[in-house]
Amino acid sequence: MIRFDILTLFPDMFHSPLASSVLKKAIDRGVIRVNIYDIRDFTTDKHRVVDDSPYGGGSGMVMMAGPIVKGIEGIKSANGSPRVILMTPQGIRFDHPEAGRLSKYDHLLFVCGRYEGVDERVREYVDEELSIGDYILMGGELAVMVVIDAVSRFVPGVLGSAESVLEESFANALLEYPQYTRPRVFRGKRVPEVLISGNHRQINHWRRKEALRRTLLRRPDLLQKANLPEDDLALLEEIKREAGRGDDR
Ligand code: SAH
Repeated sequence: MIRFDILTLFPDMFHSPLASSVLKKAIDRGVIRVNIYDIRDFTTDKHRVVDDSPYGGGSGMVMMAGPIVKGIEGIKSANGSPRVILMTPQGIRFDHPEAGRLSKYDHLLFVCGRYEGVDERVREYVDEELSIGDYILMGGELAVMVVIDAVSRFVPGVLGSAESVLEESFANALLEYPQYTRPRVFRGKRVPEVLISGNHRQINHWRRKEALRRTLLRRPDLLQKANLPEDDLALLEEIKREAGRGDDR
């Protein structure tokens, strides 16, 4: 069971993703829990102001530290000690290993920025900063959804089979092998014969080789980081020879 708390100015953005498919089922079964808090509820003035113009000038608005920090402290005092994560393009880049790491916590609290971002002094109240990639979103909400989705897949009981987590792209530093389902022939294209053979040793060998081929063609950077066993290195040599002969797929 993992609990995700979210501080946001736009709580509505979370409703539909959390009310569909795997995440909905995980919530219904009590394997994950999500609480959404409106940052405006932590304001103390009549107009519930959450932002103001930047000191020093410049365009746009900056989210004030007060309501956000009150929110963090309010959630902490009522609910223990979550790991507090600020969503920001300046954070550590989120990836598969990061998702696995975060899934080990039992309570995460995400802070979503909007506008030009949050007052610098908020940083003192967070444990870490996370970015989902080198581009600028309008707010942290979609980024948090990405993180919750990816982290939840590591939480026991969320996915049907534990295997899918182990097999997938990145799980063993490789991209996944090509997948096929019915029909056997689609517009003249046949499913590779070996997959219909019923010979599991051959199927595994084919899948491993195709995973290596894919990764070599699309993400050679991943191969460099991977600590591949001898068998894989031999397969890679085979793949390169095939490519040289022009009979790669
Ligand atoms: N001016 C800021 C960006 C503000 S974007 C800067 O240059 O750093 C508004 C908010 O969207 C941010 O506060 C953050 O919460 C969220 N956001 C934007 N891009 C993001 C990304 N790549 N990853 C995570 N959060 C992001």
